[in-house]
Amino acid sequence: MSRLPYDRPVQLWKMTRRQFREGIYDGSLKAAIIPTGSTEQHNEHLEMSHDTDSAVYVAERVAAQLYPGVVVTTPISIGISEHWMDHKGTLTTRPEIFTELLYDVADSMKRGGITHVLAVNGHAGNAAPVRNRLDELRARLGIDFDFCCYWDAYTREVIEKYMESGNCPGHASEFETSFAFAAFPGHVHWEGVDYDAAKLTISLPDRATQDRNFHHEAKLAHTVKGQAMIDIAVSWVAEKLNTMMET
Ligand SMILES: [Zn+2]
Repeated sequence: MSRLPYDRPVQLWKMTRRQFREGIYDGSLKAAIIPTGSTEQHNEHLEMSHDTDSAVYVAERVAAQLYPGVVVTTPISIGISEHWMDHKGTLTTRPEIFTELLYDVADSMKRGGITHVLAVNGHAGNAAPVRNRLDELRARLGIDFDFCCYWDAYTREVIEKYMESGNCPGHASEFETSFAFAAFPGHVHWEGVDYDAAKLTISLPDRATQDRNFHHEAKLAHTVKGQAMIDIAVSWVAEKLNTMMET
């Protein structure tokens, strides 16, 4: 993203302690977004950081829109990816570790003086384990805490309008590849890809079929669709966080 026309960055890891502290003391800093993602296979052409990078991208744009009220924390970039371990290079963590780390990051923000925390997720595998424990995490934190996937923004109509495959979010297919084209085109690497010659080791036949379908659907990706989908997600998450901040 382009540089913000402000003194204080929105990213926690780019702030000094003085900038954060003064934001708390002068009341300008009220909410935090914790981006959650993964480091996992994204078919043959997308970088493994996609889920993390997309969550951070949405979070930074939301924070810019709600400036100066929102800080974006360091992302949780290793997710719950056991289902992709057939693909060498994927990192995974256990649901209990992931949810407790999310708790710890939210709790750190609370201890810093933040009273509204929204986790914005970019990896589907993280969603159910967090949602199953959301009430408990919220009760333990004792602050306004919520969790969403940024693609919760998309209605059936939106998906049918922009996604030729009708598939969203999918995995490294039309949607995620379109997002990458719009946000960080340097993360898409079609050069040298030969799917049929790839030495894949997918143990379940259904998964192998799905992987092939996602690969071909990814070729429908386009920057314009990606930009439209990003804009919808940013507006939706900003609205959700703004509502949290007002209550
Ligand atoms: Zn992904």
